[in-house]
Amino acid sequence: MTTPLPRSLDPAQGELLASYLLRLAHQVGISPLDLAHRCGLTTGTVLSAQHLVRLADHHAEQIATLCRLDLAEVHALTLVEQAPSYAPLHPVYLGRHQSHTTMANDGRVFTAFSRYCPDCLADTADQPGGSIWPGSWRLPHTFLCPRHQRPLDWRCPQCQAPAFSNGYRTDGRWRPTQLTPAPRSRLHPARCRHRLGIGQVPACGYRLDQPSATGNAPTAAMAHTQQRLTEAARSVAGQDIGSLGRPTSPQRFLNDVRAVTLIICSTWPAAAETLRDVEHLDAVAAHADTRNRAATERAGPPEGGWLARSVDRPPGDPLRAAALMTLVVRILDAPDGQTALARSLSRLPSNGAAYRRLQRLTPTAHPA
Ligand SMILES: [Zn+2]
Ligand SMILES: [Zn+2]
Repeated sequence: MTTPLPRSLDPAQGELLASYLLRLAHQVGISPLDLAHRCGLTTGTVLSAQHLVRLADHHAEQIATLCRLDLAEVHALTLVEQAPSYAPLHPVYLGRHQSHTTMANDGRVFTAFSRYCPDCLADTADQPGGSIWPGSWRLPHTFLCPRHQRPLDWRCPQCQAPAFSNGYRTDGRWRPTQLTPAPRSRLHPARCRHRLGIGQVPACGYRLDQPSATGNAPTAAMAHTQQRLTEAARSVAGQDIGSLGRPTSPQRFLNDVRAVTLIICSTWPAAAETLRDVEHLDAVAAHADTRNRAATERAGPPEGGWLARSVDRPPGDPLRAAALMTLVVRILDAPDGQTALARSLSRLPSNGAAYRRLQRLTPTAHPA
């Protein structure tokens, strides 16, 4: 029998479960691990990051009772509720046997870290329990903060680890992921929870809500791209949007985004040769270069800020993601987008991993 806490918190719009638990634990004065345990979310001392994606009914019911919420408020804290049209959040994509470690390395959902806007963390620092971390920062197509018109950050300026993460092992792979890093540490939610070692090593503790100077203000094309991708992911079934000059479902549009990303990166610099005045060409080129290196080279320490192993993984760095996504959406929005794609596709080796991956996608941009 779950006994409700004497006092609780209201979740914020778009807040993620990990953020809510950090704020409530901070407010009540217990560790996030203790709170998660009372919510029934722990297995031994393991606090799985899978709860970020969706919650089983019995978990949602226990959270609702303990935290004095209704079930709809609890489910709204999960990514699948916040981005219903984003396929990588659904069981068909995930498969029954995909672990959260595989999910972290696949890179389609950031279960191992979070991008962040320091200004948003600062704006909400005085909320009950402290700063709010939205779920949208866990999706690779979110690279701007529309409220502050700035690119997101993704690393802690002090320890350099990706924010909200357990960091990397020496071989460049993620340390085991958790719903919240350093779950035994009682820290304000705006503080970096990365620990440089294991055992009793304290967390970094840097305040991530301090002003930072990440890049320039986003261009109009980047802001448009961000809006298109966010609206598509948040759409519910039955809504139509445009892609490659025809109406299509949000799911197919996002699938097209993935297919075109794969084509651009696998045939780089073909797209740059076809499309003049590409914005931030250097950032797209840097991502394509990192991605196209042999797998053996990529097995080393993290370089260029990304270490997921899937062939079409998106960049972790928000500036690279902004440049790449802006190019992709420009192609999908252009009246002659099909022509530009066909030129790039003709350069894709039909015996390569990228071609095989492309065949498993079913977008309107699928090769004939
Ligand atoms: Zn912001
Ligand atoms: Zn740090």
